[in-house]
Amino acid sequence: MLLNHYSVFLLVALTLCTALRIGLILRHRRSVAAHRSAVPEPFAQTIELAAHQRAADYTRARLQVALLQTPVEAALLVLWTLGGGLQSLYEWTASLASPGGSTHALLWIAAFALVNGFVELPFSVWRTFVVEARFGFNRSTPRLFLADLAKEIALGMLLGTPLILAAIALMNSAPAWWFWLWLLWLGFNLLALWLFPSVIAPLFNRFEALDNPELARRIEALLDRCGFPHYALYVMDGSRRSAHGNAYFAGIGRARRIVFFDTLLAKLDEAEVEAVLAHELGHYAHHHIWWRFVALALVSLAALWLLAWAAADPAFYHGLGLASAQPAAALLLFAMIVPLVGFPLAPMFAALSRSHEYAADRYAARHAVADKLISALVKLYRDNAATLTPDPIYSLFHDTHPPATLRIAQLRTATH
Ligand SMILES: [Zn+2]
Repeated sequence: MLLNHYSVFLLVALTLCTALRIGLILRHRRSVAAHRSAVPEPFAQTIELAAHQRAADYTRARLQVALLQTPVEAALLVLWTLGGGLQSLYEWTASLASPGGSTHALLWIAAFALVNGFVELPFSVWRTFVVEARFGFNRSTPRLFLADLAKEIALGMLLGTPLILAAIALMNSAPAWWFWLWLLWLGFNLLALWLFPSVIAPLFNRFEALDNPELARRIEALLDRCGFPHYALYVMDGSRRSAHGNAYFAGIGRARRIVFFDTLLAKLDEAEVEAVLAHELGHYAHHHIWWRFVALALVSLAALWLLAWAAADPAFYHGLGLASAQPAAALLLFAMIVPLVGFPLAPMFAALSRSHEYAADRYAARHAVADKLISALVKLYRDNAATLTPDPIYSLFHDTHPPATLRIAQLRTATH
């Protein structure tokens, strides 16, 4: 075991990042508790105190899971690296395949992912079968939960194997491999964007065309008005797993579509559905998928360049608990360090996402009725037990959507 500046960097970054994560959770928990006794002013007429308190309790219950998971993940990272876990796993998998070859590398990475998944599992079970169940949201069964898990593992192997093999081949042969790996990574992401709605999502849910003629007519009129004729609109059986209602847009090119959860349609009236759809169309009209893609491209280029710089230095491996320099080791260390280095950038990505939500709301206000989007949002916040009183700094890091108060304030100015 050799400690060097990489070990020190890891320990300092991990300590700061874990302290920041926990500090944010505690702040958020305090903010939610401090506002539990009264519904905030803009919602005083629309959300009852009991619903507001249920949202506070639900938020706190979820934070409790995160509060335990954060230090466990930090400890695991130390065990993997400075604790020699990665090196032990490397030696153990060496007995299963010819050492140093690509099969060995794949086995090593797969075993690493499996152990991480195993550690994450109790938290996921706790969230689904304790927290979600206690607040009446869970509809999943242990059987469905296990089937999902099996599918996720199979999908991860199917998509991950060629990507890892290609990455290792590039790292072994091309001098500027980080650039080629970046192009490969972007291609892989484009493929995933394209395949997600029509190939990946249907593995987990059933998608059907909307079968409400009255609503369909309304929607067609909206699509025409917005210049999106023949747009694919689907209803998903979200109720299979959860009572939470939602809507999303996904896909690029011909595969693009807007998806409504059946649980959302059950709650909203037709004008509200139209307003929510207008919001989702706003994301397409403003090309938000491509903005996100550009952000991903820039950050991954910088990250891969940094990886190439570290991977060329034997001290990088030795300082992080590995005996030898090799591509698979660089990839594993990279996968562990990226979240640490990336967490300080989280507010930037969250801000980009929130600005997209505001833009989509403004689009909806222009093409549908803003008051209807407000009433849909109020129903969603209430029924999903989403807190109305987040801590502002926690929100800065974690919230992809603006706080309810600010979103509704913007929509109100749009109506008057
Ligand atoms: Zn949105």
